Amino acid sequence: MAQKKIIIIGGGIIGLSTAYYLQADGHEVVIVDKGNLKEGASHLNAGYLTPSHIVPMAAPGMISKGMRWMFDASSPFYIKPRMNKDLISWGIKFMKSCTPNHVQRSLKTILDINLLSKELYLEMQQSPSLDFHLETKGLLMAYQSSQCRKRRS
Ligand SMILES: Cc1cc2nc3c(=O)[nH]c(=O)nc-3n(C[C@H](O)[C@H](O)[C@H](O)COP(=O)(O)OP(=O)(O)OC[C@H]3O[C@@H](n4cnc5c(N)ncnc54)[C@H](O)[C@@H]3O)c2cc1C
Repeated sequence: MAQKKIIIIGGGIIGLSTAYYLQADGHEVVIVDKGNLKEGASHLNAGYLTPSHIVPMAAPGMISKGMRWMFDASSPFYIKPRMNKDLISWGIKFMKSCTPNHVQRSLKTILDINLLSKELYLEMQQSPSLDFHLETKGLLMAYQSSQCRKRRS
């Protein structure tokens, strides 16, 4: 393929990985980020996509849970309420997707993406041009109640 000049908007794990593979294919890549790469979700999550988390965010019960989270400063979720067309349109689509059917349809796709991501992390770790910390010791999940465990699985 002919070499191309490519601009990637956003330097989270998705933008950086895309840049890594495009560069490996011989393209010239520039990443443009509105911040300092220390503000996005990837920085807070150490750049990791967890292979075991395959239930989509849009699932039954998530709307009420999301509402409760909005009022809990220690929760992982907050959206500033505002009259924004895109936000409202996204909210409606999200609400319509919170169905058992959507969860069933999404599980396999998310699992495949996560397992592929895991393979690619291991592959990247071998690359002499990248220096990052990765350990594969498994994942310990601790639950406060059996209901909590059922909801996650
Ligand atoms: C606390 C926490 C825990 C998480 N736990 C898990 C987990 O256990 N398992 C899991 O799989 N996932 C988890 N996630 C989710 C996972 O981290 C994200 O899905 C993933 O990091 C998203 O990567 P991204 O590159 O798409 O977005 P981000 O990492 O958010 O990167 C987006 C980048 O784009 C930049 N940007 C945005 N808009 C613009 C613009 N207009 N112009 C220029 N730049 C822009 C931002 O500054 C940012 O640097 C967690 C997230 C958080 C915050």
